[in-house]
Amino acid sequence: MAIATLNPATGEVEMTFEPHGPQEIENRLARAQSAVFALRGTSFADRAGWMRAAADLLDDDNERIATIMTREMGKPIGAARAEAAKCAKGMRFYADHAEEFLRDEVFGDPGSLGASRAFSRYEPLGIVLAVMPWNYPLWQVIRFAAPALMAGNVGVLKHASNVPQSALYLDTLFARGGFPAGSFSTLLIGSGEVRAVLEDPRVKAVTLTGSEPAGRSVASIAGAQVKKSVLELGGSDPFIVMPSADLSAAVATAVTARTINNGQSCISAKRFIVHTDVYDRFAELFTAAMGALRVGDPLREETQVGPLATAAGRDELAQLVDDALTGGATALTGGAVPEGVGWYYPPTVISGVTASMRLHREEAFGPVATLYRVDDVDSAIALANVTDFGLSSSVWTTDQREKARFVSEIEAGAVFLNGMTISYPELPFGGIKNSGFGRELAAEGIREFCNLKTVWEA
Ligand code: NDP
Repeated sequence: MAIATLNPATGEVEMTFEPHGPQEIENRLARAQSAVFALRGTSFADRAGWMRAAADLLDDDNERIATIMTREMGKPIGAARAEAAKCAKGMRFYADHAEEFLRDEVFGDPGSLGASRAFSRYEPLGIVLAVMPWNYPLWQVIRFAAPALMAGNVGVLKHASNVPQSALYLDTLFARGGFPAGSFSTLLIGSGEVRAVLEDPRVKAVTLTGSEPAGRSVASIAGAQVKKSVLELGGSDPFIVMPSADLSAAVATAVTARTINNGQSCISAKRFIVHTDVYDRFAELFTAAMGALRVGDPLREETQVGPLATAAGRDELAQLVDDALTGGATALTGGAVPEGVGWYYPPTVISGVTASMRLHREEAFGPVATLYRVDDVDSAIALANVTDFGLSSSVWTTDQREKARFVSEIEAGAVFLNGMTISYPELPFGGIKNSGFGRELAAEGIREFCNLKTVWEA
């Protein structure tokens, strides 16, 4: 794939970039390695100061970087501004908490081990490669970079080929904040160059957010190199509505949860599993609300759903829907590629999906919801768990026994009760099954790329 900005609202190429060649890659890795040593002599307070300065710069740049994101991948401009603001907040969160998250863990009874003292210390690993997707061009990167840099690690970013301007913005952000040169940098490279970078002995670990095939490929390279990897892959999250739920709140949240970021979020609710007692009412309200969303130019303030990020992404989504419709499913709203320029796809609700349809098993990366009717908690849980993914889930019920069952029996990295899944800097984030492994955010996220060194003294 060429490294270029293609505006999804027009389909036009706005800017193309020459990929970094071997010499430039080497220069950047060498600078990154120098930064590993430079960061060793810094304190949490030093790094927190630079991180806060970078967060302030990001706030100052909010409108400019939001416009870049919208032009590169089509998210509505208001959502782009909110994403940049969330990044600044996440950076300040780690500036405030990194030291406490990485404090030495002192063993309280060293005498029982024949020691005068014993403790564990978190130390940085060095250069961590981040292979990142286009859907949240800033947030996906910052939620890795902020904890990594606060821990004293160095980040090297291989961003998705369709968001080069976002990637280049991030290339300089941390140095502008005061971090030593090379602490964070962008490699403008295609996915074919990832292997060589990951195999470089200076690179100690990798984090990837993206598709399952990309994750399998990168994790296998990391495995062969015995290097740590964290994977955040796709999801097909269930959104379960039981009879006791506040139905209007559930419907309103369902619409947002399915269409946020034009439906291209790993933690979007994708499969709506509704108890038969409230199914008809939910289906009616949800379909009406999805059909009423304002689809259009993502640079216009009133737009709620913009185009999909790539032509290939829209083709893939259309094929999933067509496969279901051909197999006998029904589009309650949407379900067809519109005429005109831009990679638009309408908010769509599909009912009557059966196990043989691709939509039942695969991730719909766009504003397409599938609706299922179930008779009880058992069938809701079974359907929730039928997918190979296990990222998150959202459950709507006020019944305490049902809540307890969903929390313990849903196979996912998270369960959100009476709310939609959101990534918070304060809470661990990640999945199981084919959604990946490892955790981002919170204390767990900053510890992923640390050597937990045990110290024992006689
Ligand atoms: P990809 O997984 O292809 O892209 C994500 C990142 O991985 C990009 O930087 C990409 O680089 C890189 N990459 C892709 N393949 C490899 C590889 N074999 N080795 C090393 N790096 C690789 O996502 P797509 O954009 O193609 O989207 C396809 C699907 O992925 C979506 O439909 C969705 O299901 C899922 N996805 C999930 C996301 C999430 O948040 N979990 C985010 C985006 C997509 P390059 O751009 O140069 O190809």
